[in-house]
Amino acid sequence: MPTSVTIIGSGLGGSFLAIALAKEGYSVTVFESRKDPRKNLKDAGKSFNLTLYYRGIQALKKLTIWQDVLRFAIKAEGNVCHSLESGLSFDPFDKTGNEVLYTIHRSDLNRTLITLAESAGVRFSFEHKFIDLDKKTKRATLKNLKTGKSKVVSFDFLIGADGVHSAVRPAIQKGRKASFQKEYESWGYKEVNLPIPLVKKLKLRKNSTHTWPRPDSLLIAFPNADKTFTLMLNLPLQGKDSFETLTTEQAIKAYISTVFPDLMPALSAITASVLHKPTGSFVTVYTEPWYYKDVALLIGDAAHGVIPFYGQGMCAAFEDVLVLVSYLKQFDKREAAFAAFQKERKRNTDVLASLSRDNFVELRDKSRSSVYIMRNKVNTALNKIFPFWLPPLYKLIAHDDQNYADAKERFDKQQKIAKVAGISLLTALLAAPFAIRSTVKRRSLSK
Ligand SMILES: Cc1cc2nc3c(=O)[nH]c(=O)nc-3n(C[C@H](O)[C@H](O)[C@H](O)COP(=O)(O)OP(=O)(O)OC[C@H]3O[C@@H](n4cnc5c(N)ncnc54)[C@H](O)[C@@H]3O)c2cc1C
Repeated sequence: MPTSVTIIGSGLGGSFLAIALAKEGYSVTVFESRKDPRKNLKDAGKSFNLTLYYRGIQALKKLTIWQDVLRFAIKAEGNVCHSLESGLSFDPFDKTGNEVLYTIHRSDLNRTLITLAESAGVRFSFEHKFIDLDKKTKRATLKNLKTGKSKVVSFDFLIGADGVHSAVRPAIQKGRKASFQKEYESWGYKEVNLPIPLVKKLKLRKNSTHTWPRPDSLLIAFPNADKTFTLMLNLPLQGKDSFETLTTEQAIKAYISTVFPDLMPALSAITASVLHKPTGSFVTVYTEPWYYKDVALLIGDAAHGVIPFYGQGMCAAFEDVLVLVSYLKQFDKREAAFAAFQKERKRNTDVLASLSRDNFVELRDKSRSSVYIMRNKVNTALNKIFPFWLPPLYKLIAHDDQNYADAKERFDKQQKIAKVAGISLLTALLAAPFAIRSTVKRRSLSK
């Protein structure tokens, strides 16, 4: 009899895990509280695009499903920056030929993964909500949301892939010494769909991301495979020009016309989204333990929710799966595999969580600063001269598959050496004249 696994959650991590375990010969059943996303084509509002970087692509290739996903993915050629001061500028992404970035709509990816899992023999029960776990008898209680009836299922082990607000997490940790920290950012997001006629009116460059750098807001538009775009509106939750104050058509019109005048053709779409779509939140989760004996384990956001400003949460969930599957093969005892998994992945995902928060602050506060922009440009130029020695941190995290903790350690070491060797000073000196020139130019333009 194959080992039976129950997975809670058919999101990105859960459905990817289902494929991986089915391919290894496990008997896999997935319970998901939402409707089948393949039948429920109308998205719930918070369905955003995802960026897919090297390590995510590598993971998909390892399961030999990259070609299935690629059908819905767009290779982003670069970013168009919509600056109030200096107008439009295009920055190509893949200057070196190995910094590839794809964007994909979350629901396209999720539907594809579920279909692939089903073809690999996985059974899905949608509209079944996880309620409770009996760790001693290895049974879970689920509620059928269509009938309101409860049912109990047995398994050899259970995996909680039920996201950042996991219900499996407290069930695993109940009655044990556990730590749990959930940190909310003071910003939130809304998604705006930009259909093809609007994309044309806005003159958005195809196969490119678009950003509108402004103080106290982050607007990013992602291209979709069907030539539409998805605009992600990131704003403070409270205060001036926040989701708390932009609550009338007039207020939104005044805000967009002043701060994002080139987005005025999309005003009615933006207004509809701001007024009627739910506000998404940015949450970081630090917790442990992630497992109970050989009975149950957490993966993905349930174990380590990170905010999306390094675009790595899904990649981290995919990497969890690959590490877990390799440890299940490597260790005779499942509990030892779970323990090793938590040790290895927590070390890495804690680093990712903190880098993602740092990057959010940088994007929010520093990315408009001339010194910051020029320092990045000089760093990139120096990396061309010393390609192995001085890769920037974003490159090690996004365009490499060295684990997050080792990548950060390598970067910190490099920085120390660069400081001693005077390269940091050289970077600052090289950046300074450009930064001054650009600040003077901006000031004269804004007069
Ligand atoms: C705004 C935003 C943008 C992002 N952008 C990126 C990006 O560009 N690149 C990237 O790599 N990552 C990104 N992420 C992160 C990425 O979405 C997550 O890391 C990833 O979805 C984690 O997968 P998961 O399976 O752990 O959780 P999820 O994908 O959230 O799936 C959890 C599933 O569990 C189900 N569920 C919940 N509770 C229950 C229950 N009680 N019973 C049954 N089912 C349940 C849910 O309905 C859901 O389907 C972003 C996240 C956000 C919020």
